[in-house]
Amino acid sequence: VNARPHRDEVMPAPREAVTDETALSIRFWGVRGSIPAPRAETVDFGGNTPCLEVTAAGRRFIVDAGSGIAALGATIAGEDVSRYDILLTHLHHDHVTGLFFFRPIFRPGVHVAIHCGNLDGETAEAPLRRLYSPPLFPISFEDVAATFSFHGFRAGEALDFGPAVKVGTCLLRHPSGATAYRFDCGGRALAIITDIEHAGPAPDPEVADFVRNCDLVVYDAMFLAPEYPACQGWGHSTLEAGVELCRVAGAKRLAAFHHNPTHDDAVLAERERWLEGQLPGSFIAREGMTLRFEAREPVAAPAAAPAGERRTAR
Ligand SMILES: [Zn+2]
Ligand SMILES: [Zn+2]
Repeated sequence: VNARPHRDEVMPAPREAVTDETALSIRFWGVRGSIPAPRAETVDFGGNTPCLEVTAAGRRFIVDAGSGIAALGATIAGEDVSRYDILLTHLHHDHVTGLFFFRPIFRPGVHVAIHCGNLDGETAEAPLRRLYSPPLFPISFEDVAATFSFHGFRAGEALDFGPAVKVGTCLLRHPSGATAYRFDCGGRALAIITDIEHAGPAPDPEVADFVRNCDLVVYDAMFLAPEYPACQGWGHSTLEAGVELCRVAGAKRLAAFHHNPTHDDAVLAERERWLEGQLPGSFIAREGMTLRFEAREPVAAPAAAPAGERRTAR
């Protein structure tokens, strides 16, 4: 039995100092790709599908609403916050299956803004309404307490969330496309690159530019290199391609993400040993991990929250 705890107390990479000067933080609520994979053999790394909580200068962003968002929602269910921004990478089931299990949507007075960039400017409203209505789901958007707004943009455009944080986006090579997000705040930067299939042996120059000099790149490393040829065209990448991308772009650390549901803890732990030798400080993302990045430059004052909204710091 591997009794090693997999929550915050175990950090495979050196954790940034935790200070009041935190510019950026990221917490992994779901790290698994394609389908939840809960079993004894995946308990170290976790079985929930993608959900990331990014905090920039105290403002919270939720990236993807996979099954991991349920635990996030349970954790913050009682907080006094009236607006949540969910940035979707795309609409494949593993990235949206948890939306109606996000408990704050059952709290009156809550507003949820859903941002989506891979539909050529269209919003995610129609597909999400289709997914969350009978007979695919027992209730629909009209049956929950929260109000929703849907924001469509074209991946590649920057999003405006005020002067304290820059949120950049980039279109990724994936069936129906996917949106990468980059957060810059206080001289720190982190990028989320999922779901992506690398274009060839050399990294896509546009993606390399997008992650240039990032402190952390979260990367879709679903396939082992020997598995990849049989899965070419499925829209996912390898750890090797992620390491090469970081090297070319001068990005410091990689967090492997969107783990293959068939890969158990032993496989991922072995990949992590290899990864640490390639790009020191890199790691395989574990459900429950948090990383914080101390500001290196002054952080601009966050924009005042719209009337009736409270800041999301906690
Ligand atoms: Zn996926
Ligand atoms: Zn996908």
